[in-house]
Amino acid sequence: MTREIILSEHFKLTEFTHSATAQAKGIDNSLDVTASDHAKMIVNNLHQLCVHVLEPLRRHFNIPVTISSGYRNPILNAIIGGVKNSQHIVGEAADIRPPRRSSQGKPFTELERRTIFSMWFSWLMKQDFDQLILEKNMKSGIAWIHVSYRQDGKNRRQVITSKESLSYSFFSPRKHPTGEPSPRDHSR
Ligand SMILES: [Zn+2]
Repeated sequence: MTREIILSEHFKLTEFTHSATAQAKGIDNSLDVTASDHAKMIVNNLHQLCVHVLEPLRRHFNIPVTISSGYRNPILNAIIGGVKNSQHIVGEAADIRPPRRSSQGKPFTELERRTIFSMWFSWLMKQDFDQLILEKNMKSGIAWIHVSYRQDGKNRRQVITSKESLSYSFFSPRKHPTGEPSPRDHSR
């Protein structure tokens, strides 16, 4: 067994290399820093992303940060449908979501998670980052924040949102949380 690499106080390397898709497809998405300088460079980029963006976020709100996608090797990135020059390939980006439970183990309601999501996004916008994207999968209704950081100092602070992602909800517009029709259904 290889030694667990700690990227920052609250983040471990395995959180960034774990991928359900990779597991299902039998793809090795691990990073062995002893094997190549390339792997070392990627791990260092992830470390910088943690130190400059994710760890400050984690500390500011004292809420655990779920990494839904961190590092992706080029094969995994292609399977997932990521853009060819995705910053995930070089360890400069992570997709994050609020966790199911608080750091005290209390389950969050959907409303609480949506609130955390919005607070995170507003807070991140004021930090140093390269790209900040509010994303939403229209099919599944799942939303996440894509955030990237470049250690070369060329951070663009580019924010990208869409109409769908701004009206962010864990529920699709047709399935209103209360079971009532959403306002959109009335505006015919
Ligand atoms: Zn992403």
